[in-house]
Amino acid sequence: MAQETDLAIIGGGPAGLTAAIYAARMGLKTTVFEAEAIGGVARTTDKIENYPGFLSITGPDLVDKMKAQAEHCGANIILDTVASIDRTGMIVNTSRDQWKTKAVIIATGSKRRKLGLTNERELESAGLSYCAVCDGPIYAAKKVAVVGGGSTAAHDAIFLAGVARKVFLIHEEEKLDVDEDLANQVLSYKEIEPMFNSTIEEAISKHNSLRKLVIKNHKTSEISEVRVKALFVAIGEDPFKLATLTGIDTDDSGSIKVNDNQATNVEGIYAAGDVTGGIKQIGTAVGEGIVAAMKAGFFVKRKIRMEKKTE
Ligand SMILES: Cc1cc2nc3c(=O)[nH]c(=O)nc-3n(C[C@H](O)[C@H](O)[C@H](O)COP(=O)(O)OP(=O)(O)OC[C@H]3O[C@@H](n4cnc5c(N)ncnc54)[C@H](O)[C@@H]3O)c2cc1C
Repeated sequence: MAQETDLAIIGGGPAGLTAAIYAARMGLKTTVFEAEAIGGVARTTDKIENYPGFLSITGPDLVDKMKAQAEHCGANIILDTVASIDRTGMIVNTSRDQWKTKAVIIATGSKRRKLGLTNERELESAGLSYCAVCDGPIYAAKKVAVVGGGSTAAHDAIFLAGVARKVFLIHEEEKLDVDEDLANQVLSYKEIEPMFNSTIEEAISKHNSLRKLVIKNHKTSEISEVRVKALFVAIGEDPFKLATLTGIDTDDSGSIKVNDNQATNVEGIYAAGDVTGGIKQIGTAVGEGIVAAMKAGFFVKRKIRMEKKTE
């Protein structure tokens, strides 16, 4: 038999935990499902220096505080993977159970696409990053590179141009895959050196520090090397299967489309945090988690009132 909850929150990262705090404080029976480790990707971050209220805090410390607060407010946190959502019956199927719910918040984060370098894993602790806003300031006045040609890569390059001495923007196509205004803005920075028609053949590190990239220009077949201290990978995200399986609209990059209320195209299903795309930071995840919880909360309360009227 299905267990019951008012609100099912899928994902126990900053967005999900914040939504849980707000929903539980609204008096909703709130259940958070987390597939791996409470705290999401923020748990894996050594040092967070841009979350208001803390000059510097470790990821585990911050998310443990969020978890404790969610539980203190009455949220139930379950370590289990959500495998599917039955949107007609509002049933959340986990790997072990079935949960009947009145609303759902999807806060499952995003899986950044890897570049596919053989040594990518080792480089992750030696200068390769998937988050320019988070790690860019470490490389102040150094030479860095961004790989990718979409909106994230363009914004990363602009952000880094204000921090680093030089930013190589490596993209396999002939031009950036962004609107003309943004492309012109990128090209107007003297710190940004575009390398189009190019791919990274190799990233070489020494003493646990990235040293240089070997780059191939596919138009000229020329091989060149650039010395950089960091490489920021911005080549999109892996599509989010749970959303597409449920009939939830996503954009070209696989992020869930939401309106100003964090509502998806499916009534009663909301989304918050990195899974919705945009600026992927703890602060934005927290903000979206609040909006999603409040709007889902009002939706649930309305539903409960209607059910009582028809009894
Ligand atoms: C290396 C790195 C450093 C960063 N540093 C900073 C920083 O300094 N400052 C900052 O503000 N931001 C930083 N960020 C970004 C920040 O961590 C994210 O924006 C934030 O964690 C997003 O929160 P979220 O809740 O949306 O997603 P996540 O934190 O990704 O959490 C999503 C959770 O959902 C769970 N989940 C996924 N699918 C399912 C499922 N089917 N069932 C159940 N659970 C599921 C996942 O296991 C995960 O725990 C950094 C990111 C990275 C990668």
